Amino acid sequence: MHKLLENSPGKKVFYLGNEAIARGALEAGVACATTYPGTPSSEISLSLFQVSKETDLYFEYSVNEKVALEVAAAAANTGVRSFCMMKHVGMNVAADVLMTLSYIGVKAGLVILTADDPFMFSSQNEQDNRYYGKLAGLPILEPSTPQEAKDMMISGMEMSEKLGVPVILRTTTRVNHSTAQVTLGEIGPINIKGSFTKNPFMMVAIPAVSRRLHTRLLARLAEAEKLADDSPANFIEGGGPLGIVVNGVSYNYVKDAIAELGIAEKVSVFRMGFSNPAPKGKIAAFLKGKEKILVAEEGEPFMEEMIKAVAQENGVIIPIKGKAEGLFSREGEFDPALVRGVMARFFGVADTPPARIDQAGIPEIPARPPNLCAGCPHRATFYEVHQAAGDRSTIFPTDIGCYTLGVLPPLSAADFLICMGSSAGTSAGFSKFTKDKTIAFIGDSTFFHSGIAGLVNAVFNNHNFTLVIVDNGTTAMTGHQPHPGVDMVEMGFSGYNRVSIENVVRGLGVQTVVVTDPYKVKKSIEAIKEALDAPGISVVISRQICPLYARSVKRPRRGPFTVTDKCKNHRTCVDKLGCPAMYVEAGKVRINAEQCTGCAVCAQVCPENAIVPFKG
Ligand code: SF4
Ligand code: SF4
Repeated sequence: MHKLLENSPGKKVFYLGNEAIARGALEAGVACATTYPGTPSSEISLSLFQVSKETDLYFEYSVNEKVALEVAAAAANTGVRSFCMMKHVGMNVAADVLMTLSYIGVKAGLVILTADDPFMFSSQNEQDNRYYGKLAGLPILEPSTPQEAKDMMISGMEMSEKLGVPVILRTTTRVNHSTAQVTLGEIGPINIKGSFTKNPFMMVAIPAVSRRLHTRLLARLAEAEKLADDSPANFIEGGGPLGIVVNGVSYNYVKDAIAELGIAEKVSVFRMGFSNPAPKGKIAAFLKGKEKILVAEEGEPFMEEMIKAVAQENGVIIPIKGKAEGLFSREGEFDPALVRGVMARFFGVADTPPARIDQAGIPEIPARPPNLCAGCPHRATFYEVHQAAGDRSTIFPTDIGCYTLGVLPPLSAADFLICMGSSAGTSAGFSKFTKDKTIAFIGDSTFFHSGIAGLVNAVFNNHNFTLVIVDNGTTAMTGHQPHPGVDMVEMGFSGYNRVSIENVVRGLGVQTVVVTDPYKVKKSIEAIKEALDAPGISVVISRQICPLYARSVKRPRRGPFTVTDKCKNHRTCVDKLGCPAMYVEAGKVRINAEQCTGCAVCAQVCPENAIVPFKG
């Protein structure tokens, strides 16, 4: 039995924040869960994917976040509780649905989780998705701990049903990825039998209908404001004249800092866990009698602006600061020391940081620059594309996935990246206005997510570039989730179909389509040359399984390689490939047999045939 299915109400367990959220979905009786994977949300979907094997829960890895929300929106409108999860930038993809779904509303609860990523640990930007809640007119819940994250899944689901609109559960990396004690509740009854009552004059968003629905949404928002004022998620602690307003993980840092700075008598804390619509009544009550207010929130001054507005409406003139110069930055992630330092400065108390733990004698952690894994087929593809391009002047638009690491030397195969699926679209612009050969890279999962549209556009508009689809048979970067091109039987699931990338590409009208095996270097270079020389749009499908995924689906392993005495030490292998299994010892190139996956690409690159299978 999956550990999230243990039905022992009251039992205390240690869960990762993301596991707690998945457990919350099970306790809330979610019957339909959809997603496109993305860090820091990925473990929620992985947990529910696994649980779906043992329960009636319908789970799907959708092709992108827009589709995921469309599936969940329809399910919720048949009366089954639904959950749609994504990372913050996924919300941009789903935004088209979100903005009108808020008008259409839901019949059963629908919680939409956005996992925001301050400091961009694994993202292309650090947008603050609370503004999406405000833009769409939807309630937002913001947990501070894994326990709250679980509980807010349930209360969010109930609120969604009460108000008839989706509820946004907004987390940040530190809540998703921290582990804490969580008290289990009862696993909810799950209703998987939906029914749909036609009511096109309330559910088909044509202008005449939408005008009425917008009025209804505003009324629902007013109702939500009352709920926010009364919500236990918005609470006040302490009673001093100095005020601090917090949300999410900052609440934990602030509580520690108050104790460490010894200012518990002077400070009141307003923890805002239900942050849209603004709990105006509670904010006004909090402002009364305060001398000054500090707002501690990662990201943008969302609460700060709200509190200043409520202060202005109530004629309160006191310093209210958050993102002011020299206080909290709009960039990056908070940590306990940073928050304590800002509080000390703002409240005029001495910050005496706790004594540092003596780390003398503890060896430094070796630097680990980001790099494609040993044996990664993308490394070979980049090498081959450079060889095939020869001395042509090139531009490499790239996309989101492991292959984005191709930006680093010696591979140097990434010149431009905006967002998921942008490689094909931006290639059109580059190739139209430059004489350079434009060669774009996109992964198989990203191709299905949103790359297809760019390719359709390129075919129709007769653009001129080569799209290299690096097909490693999985969504590697986020942890090997499936996509429509994956063999689900190999993953242990039945009942799925498989979509052929080459059939899709040919079906779109691309005339030159070549499929290569990047581990066969010479043949691949020839095939890529053919594609580069073809006029118009050409597509290379460079297909080889991700070696980490191959291991997880138990494909047979290849043996490692070694460097023989034939080596002339000119370092072509190291300099061209940068494989982390290779190292230099006593001035000689060596291969770490533990890391080597036996891809044999270096052996083909070595002009002296000095790299051979290891026979140990
Ligand atoms: S996870 Fe797979 S695809 Fe990603 S870098 Fe490692 S080997 Fe390459
Ligand atoms: S390319 Fe071959 S000969 Fe040159 S350093 Fe590497 S292993 Fe030695």
